[in-house]
Amino acid sequence: MLPEKGTFLPRIDQSAFTKELCALRGNLRFEEPLVCHTTIGVGGKAAFFFSPERPHALVETIRCCRRYGYPYLLLGAGSNLLFSDCGYPGLIISTEQLRGITLAEGSVQVFAGEPLPALLNTVNRAGIRSLNFLAGIPGSLGGAIAMNTGIPQRTIGDTIEEVAVLNPHGEVMVLKAKDCGFSYRQSRILEQRLPVLWARLRLDGRPYDRGEILTHRRASQPLSALSAGCVFKNPRGLSAGRMIDKAGLKGLSVGMAKVSEKHANFIVNLGGARCAEIRKLIDIVRQKVYKSFRILLELEIEVIDG
Ligand SMILES: Cc1cc2nc3c(=O)[nH]c(=O)nc-3n(C[C@H](O)[C@H](O)[C@H](O)COP(=O)(O)OP(=O)(O)OC[C@H]3O[C@@H](n4cnc5c(N)ncnc54)[C@H](O)[C@@H]3O)c2cc1C
Repeated sequence: MLPEKGTFLPRIDQSAFTKELCALRGNLRFEEPLVCHTTIGVGGKAAFFFSPERPHALVETIRCCRRYGYPYLLLGAGSNLLFSDCGYPGLIISTEQLRGITLAEGSVQVFAGEPLPALLNTVNRAGIRSLNFLAGIPGSLGGAIAMNTGIPQRTIGDTIEEVAVLNPHGEVMVLKAKDCGFSYRQSRILEQRLPVLWARLRLDGRPYDRGEILTHRRASQPLSALSAGCVFKNPRGLSAGRMIDKAGLKGLSVGMAKVSEKHANFIVNLGGARCAEIRKLIDIVRQKVYKSFRILLELEIEVIDG
């Protein structure tokens, strides 16, 4: 069923837009609940939700949105996103079907939608341990590159040989790592919203013990709860989690959203939390940490307004 005309969507020729989307290879849904597509389990409905089957269909979907001036957002594993309770008034483009890993000598080529745990399974089977610093991170390759995901010692940006993106002119362009502007949980890819199609990662660097990292995560993070990982970035040389803990905020809750007792930089959804509750809790934490330390915490998770 199509969403009601004129209420939710920007003023475009919806029938022409949907006709073009329907002609592409993929799975198109309307009024898709976003709670099912984020690790924190929050969010209203997306007006349109499309999951292309091939990179070519992804490229054509984005070109179609740009032609119509229709808002869109790339979705990987949804492990760093907080959608509004009002949902998303545009097209969510999920990369869940864009998977594939090709191992070569010294490198691996990976498609955007490949989950990091599946990538680690493949490279570990080949006896390669250098990507294990990503163990326990539930993202997709594309989202991980956009966020420059990682741990303090190493990030995915450190392993990049090349990344294929769609540039603002609608052309596929292959970027080298130096062109990606990687910094702490930031990249030119995220800043300029360049869709990642695939990337080649170098398989060098020191090995990491996957089991050890997972054990440490299980002991220090609330992995069985719904969350979007760390809510705030660490201020230079400091730990946001430790500051929140020292401000006495562990266990603080608003409705069904709660500051984790296990790791103060995680906000967990106790079941049915609303985005508004999580945002209220975020505001309180920021204010109290500011009052205690005169430091305004910056968000690591991305809040998408409806
Ligand atoms: C339990 C838990 C632990 C975590 N631990 C860590 C950690 O240790 N270190 C860390 O850095 N993060 C961590 N995270 C956060 C999160 O997992 C990472 O940021 C992850 O890499 C995001 O990937 P994603 O596919 O889920 O992206 P999403 O949440 O789907 O999207 C994040 C951003 O990337 C964009 N994006 C998604 N796909 C693409 C694409 N193909 N091309 C371009 N842009 C795209 C989205 O539009 C959005 O702006 C954790 C999260 C959880 C839930």
